[in-house]
Amino acid sequence: MARVAFIGLGNMGGGMAANLAKAGHDVRAFDLSPEALERAKKAGCLPAESTDDAVAEAEAVVTMLPAGKHVRDVYENHIFGKAPPAAILMDCSTIDVATAREVIGDAQAKGYRMVDAPVSGGIAAAEAGTLTFMVGGTEEAFNRAEPFLDIMGKAVIHAGGAGAGQAAKICNNMLLGASMIATCETFVLAQKLGLDPKTFFDISSQASGQNWSMTSYCPVPGVGPETPADRDYNGGFAAALMLKDLRLAMEAARSVDSYTPMGAYAEELYTRFAEKLGGSGKDFSAIIKMIDDSWKA
Ligand code: NAD
Repeated sequence: MARVAFIGLGNMGGGMAANLAKAGHDVRAFDLSPEALERAKKAGCLPAESTDDAVAEAEAVVTMLPAGKHVRDVYENHIFGKAPPAAILMDCSTIDVATAREVIGDAQAKGYRMVDAPVSGGIAAAEAGTLTFMVGGTEEAFNRAEPFLDIMGKAVIHAGGAGAGQAAKICNNMLLGASMIATCETFVLAQKLGLDPKTFFDISSQASGQNWSMTSYCPVPGVGPETPADRDYNGGFAAALMLKDLRLAMEAARSVDSYTPMGAYAEELYTRFAEKLGGSGKDFSAIIKMIDDSWKA
């Protein structure tokens, strides 16, 4: 078993660190929030005084932080030169592709092996150890990271070189955001045309309109398998996080001059829903309420 430093014990990191500890690793955990640190202690991790303290003598380092600026700060000021050069470094946060590539480049220049390994799956998957990891980095770095990521996930996929994990994540979520909006407006229209939503689900889920947002995550309550729609759109994947990922996707699209009209419109609609209409804390499928005229009235 290895000594693992885990930095960032929030909604996602808390469950992930707990799973590493449950698997028998010696997890040295740190978060700026004392409450998060206390929860990690109860879950079997050893609280550290600081990131520097957590990573000293670590064989592996996992970070799960809010955004690119936190990742850059933590790696540049508290991990590089503090963690042993033999440690494998894994950043599981969702951040912009450019920062991921830059930080991994710096890590390599300092003699470390590092991967970007963002996840698909929410808080429940982090707790259950059923996340999907999309990993960017060299073959050697991937092979070193995989046994640790395996404990926290149900699938660990090598997407390509540095930043490829982040690229896969934001491309997937751009498709998800756009397909959710299309699914929402389709169900609203079907209903207004007099179709029963369950009947329409039975037809479309077996016809060419079939997609994940419909069959596994239907935005209409009482239709298909149980989803956040059945819990008044609570739990699940917050609209604020979908908006974050759409913004990252648009930033990446601009950087390579890629035309993404559907992604851009999805970003605009989620901005309206999350920031102007107060939907940020609701599951992202709640955008159906904005699309349905009766809710706007
Ligand atoms: P969160 O805000 O709950 O947790 C982030 C934690 O990082 C907080 O506890 C914060 O105190 C800590 N932190 C910030 N700066 C720090 C520093 N310098 N040193 C130590 N700790 C620091 O966020 P989350 O929901 O756990 O998400 C983490 C990442 O995972 C984000 O990049 C997010 O986009 C991504 N993600 C989240 C979900 C989800 O459903 N919540 C799903 C997939 C991916």
